[in-house]
Amino acid sequence: MSEITYNTIIVGGGIAGLTSAAYLSREGQKVLLIEKNKECGGLVNSFNRDGFHFDAGVRALEDAGIIFPMLKDLGIELEVVKSQVSLGIENEILHIENFDSLIKYRDLLTKLYPDSRGEIDEVLKSIRKIMKHMDVLYGIENPVFKDLKHDRNFIFKKLLPWLPKFIFTVGKINRLNMPVEEYLGTMVKNPSLRDIISQHFFKNTPAFFAMSYFSLYLDYFYPKGGVGKLSATLKNKITECDGEIKKETKIIEVLADKCLVRDQNNITYKYDNLIWAADLKTLYKITKTEGLSPGIKTNFEYTKIKMLKNRGGDSVFSLFLEVDEPLESFRKIANGHFFYTPSKLGLGETNREELDYLLSNLGKVEKEQILTWLDKFTRLNTYEISIPGLKDPELVPPGKTGIIISFLAEYDLFNKIQEAGWLNEFIPELENRVLNVLSDSVYPMLKDKIIARFSYTPLSIENRVGSSEGAITGWAFQKSMPVINKIQFSDRSVLTPVPSIYQAGQWAYSPAGVPMSILTGKLAADRALKQIKKL
Ligand SMILES: Cc1cc2nc3c(=O)[nH]c(=O)nc-3n(C[C@H](O)[C@H](O)[C@H](O)COP(=O)(O)OP(=O)(O)OC[C@H]3O[C@@H](n4cnc5c(N)ncnc54)[C@H](O)[C@@H]3O)c2cc1C
Repeated sequence: MSEITYNTIIVGGGIAGLTSAAYLSREGQKVLLIEKNKECGGLVNSFNRDGFHFDAGVRALEDAGIIFPMLKDLGIELEVVKSQVSLGIENEILHIENFDSLIKYRDLLTKLYPDSRGEIDEVLKSIRKIMKHMDVLYGIENPVFKDLKHDRNFIFKKLLPWLPKFIFTVGKINRLNMPVEEYLGTMVKNPSLRDIISQHFFKNTPAFFAMSYFSLYLDYFYPKGGVGKLSATLKNKITECDGEIKKETKIIEVLADKCLVRDQNNITYKYDNLIWAADLKTLYKITKTEGLSPGIKTNFEYTKIKMLKNRGGDSVFSLFLEVDEPLESFRKIANGHFFYTPSKLGLGETNREELDYLLSNLGKVEKEQILTWLDKFTRLNTYEISIPGLKDPELVPPGKTGIIISFLAEYDLFNKIQEAGWLNEFIPELENRVLNVLSDSVYPMLKDKIIARFSYTPLSIENRVGSSEGAITGWAFQKSMPVINKIQFSDRSVLTPVPSIYQAGQWAYSPAGVPMSILTGKLAADRALKQIKKL
């Protein structure tokens, strides 16, 4: 056992855990951050291969009134550029510049679906309304990152005038909590159009979240040097403030009554407070509650059942390409962050139904049937394409381009194919199809210029960050969520049934992403600090 008792141990060195650790170590707390991988960052991470720079997780960041205030509060400088977004369907490509680009989006959709003009206008009206709500929601720096005791200017000039608008907007937003598919169903009859608007969102994404995406497109920024720079600056802050970071250390047991965590080498670490900033199903599976009061134990068991019953949300498949073609060739086509759909037909309901059928009969169906499904899936899908060099040209060797192509992918598909023993055959089949589809449409030069390629499946994500079902933003959207999913209660999202254990990150609140992971990381740190001060 390690001799020291830490004020707070944080498990998980993703962006949530890094935030908690940075804040607590800045307060002079004895902090230990434990990360299972060789490097911190989790899904906010970048790596270099052959001189090409790639982002392993999120491709660009949204401030959401959270990231910049957090950096400012911690005194961290981060050089950033705007991450400009393009949207493309077949041959139509739109570069999003400002609020008025919405009109061009309407024109683009009307050109492709001339019979749905009225419906498109309805959708656009709704997007505009939701964008206004988002302007209120993210309209001021998040108060959690402000010094409310001393910053009277912020309280009287910004916070107080904003609060009534916020309360009004929260009411409106909560009424738009229905799945986006259902919401669009009320105003759009054309199933292809519905798909094109919504198929790159997770299944059952709350309507307000999906429809607010146009605001988020305008908000995206990119740290010079890659997304991983955000994690790197936080990590530096922790060490600067004498916080301890232990990498390549995986926590495999939590002994809640003794306030101990145990790692893979059987070493235990003692804490006053624990912040669990990793997969929550794992926390509930590995925590021993013997010795705790019966009330806490019962509450823990009840919460555990809820957690284990739920699934992680959608995952992604990412194809990384090193291309022997200059950035300019790609810049002429679209911005460095590009949502592209090669066919206006849309994936359709049949995509999921057919896949469900194939997956439940995997032992009986021929490989060919899966590959035929894959043909259609890759032809009709929407791709998120990121070209880091178009955001920061120093991220590629001269005259070359690195590209990351990704799309939502079903964890069970990869898992079952792996169980059936042909994942190594399946992956190149998938890669080839994606390359064919994009070479036949938006990037004709692509196919013959590839120097090297490799990909990450949902299984790679599960292995790398320990995320249930390879989920990239926490829980699947279901009627009964196992965590807080209303913004006005977000403060409570970090509590667990055990008073000395807090939770943070993408599993602590839904819907999540980088900003919410940072916010919960800060909220958990605040709670832990308050608790220590009471001791
Ligand atoms: C392709 C992609 C695109 C995305 N796009 C967006 C987007 O546009 N906008 C957005 O907001 N978000 C996006 N996200 C999601 C966002 O990146 C994540 O929600 C966020 O980074 C999660 O941070 P986290 O700290 O909660 O969890 P993670 O990043 O998963 O960090 C958890 C950490 O805990 C470690 N760990 C796990 N188990 C243990 C253990 N037992 N012991 C020790 N360490 C452990 C892991 O190794 C990991 O480092 C995207 C993600 C991906 C992959």
